[in-house]
Amino acid sequence: MNFHSMSVDQLRTTQEDLRKRYATLQAAGLKLDLTRGKPAPDQLDLSNEMLSLPGETYTSPDGVDCRNYGGVTGLLGLREIFGELLGTGTERTIALGNASLQAMHDITVHSLLGGNPDSDQPWSTQPIKFLCPAPGYDRHFGITERYGIEMITVPMNPDGPDVDACAALVAADPSIKGMWLVPTFSNPTGYTVSEEVARRLVAMPAAPDFRIYWDNAYAVHTLVDETPTPLPILDFAEEAGNPNRVYVFASTSKITFAGAGVAFFASSKTNIDWFTKNLGVSTIGPDKLNQLRHLMFLRDADGVRAHMARHRALIAPKFAKVLEILEDRLADSKIASWTHPEGGYFISLDVIDGAAARTIALAKDAGIALTAAGSTFPYKKDPRDENIRLAPTFPSIDELATAMDGVATCALLAATEVLLDAE
Ligand code: PMP
Repeated sequence: MNFHSMSVDQLRTTQEDLRKRYATLQAAGLKLDLTRGKPAPDQLDLSNEMLSLPGETYTSPDGVDCRNYGGVTGLLGLREIFGELLGTGTERTIALGNASLQAMHDITVHSLLGGNPDSDQPWSTQPIKFLCPAPGYDRHFGITERYGIEMITVPMNPDGPDVDACAALVAADPSIKGMWLVPTFSNPTGYTVSEEVARRLVAMPAAPDFRIYWDNAYAVHTLVDETPTPLPILDFAEEAGNPNRVYVFASTSKITFAGAGVAFFASSKTNIDWFTKNLGVSTIGPDKLNQLRHLMFLRDADGVRAHMARHRALIAPKFAKVLEILEDRLADSKIASWTHPEGGYFISLDVIDGAAARTIALAKDAGIALTAAGSTFPYKKDPRDENIRLAPTFPSIDELATAMDGVATCALLAATEVLLDAE
């Protein structure tokens, strides 16, 4: 029954029932973790062949001896594969070390210290700001928070960030130097940026050294039949007369081994030259043997797509299970809404205003760890205290079902508390 149309008495009775259910949940002594979007062991098993690669081979198909120093832009074969998958092309795509997050971090620090190719002074000479579509990825916000960059929240809509809000903000304030964005199957909503929004983002008037961190971490991570065609965002930016506006990032962290994959950076030639010059100060080159084993294992873009279909077979039933339980347990009460992602690693659950932190705390006390309250917003402050990020991939399907049933009980109980408080 719809909680919003219940009388106080009905709410009290419902709350009593839920408290009993919650006590049973607590007594079960669960220890379940839905916090981070990690691949499950069976997903990692899909890439076990890589553990014995590159074997005796150490030369790349184009003749690079991968045992030795050098080649800061990474192996050509991998740049070809990901240039195709990201819609950025080989020339504008480079293969790095194990973490795209590190590239995002380093680029930010280089910009603070020396400015980017379009800056007339280092970013650090004045207070600067970043736009943060939210709910978004907590580790993005962690980088900007670490360096004292003011974060401005903009709403993340099903077709991408609220572009009217973005355009108005950047036009009025040249100290806005950057914007975080996960364009495909976004973390945590699963939303994908439309072509229209993408074109407006690269065309909107902004400071010359304004940059969009186009973190395409989930470009090929589909839960449905088709991998989406990547938007050729670097071409859009060029056509709009802002060729340097976009930094594209991606990695194989959730394709092969999380934390032991290969990261990619793609951008205009000017930006690539700037970044590789800076990168060359800190490394003589990436781990090319790891790149080689990836190249041998993945082979080509179709090889990656086929591999992602195997991931999908393992994780799509988990997403379906979470959605089934949410529907079953929460739909009638009208105290929550949630996304139905077609890819990526998360489901975003919104409970009624003021109930998210309480839901997460109740779950914790029942042995179910959820991502900390507020994590999906800048400064960990969810203005409406409503958002909860669910990460269905890591637990087994049985654990997931138990955990989600528990989360639903906690969300319902928290909702009765908020509604009765308001009486
Ligand atoms: N970007 C997004 C949106 C992510 O969700 C993640 C991992 N959860 C990362 C980047 C981190 O990627 P990497 O392992 O390449 O640093």
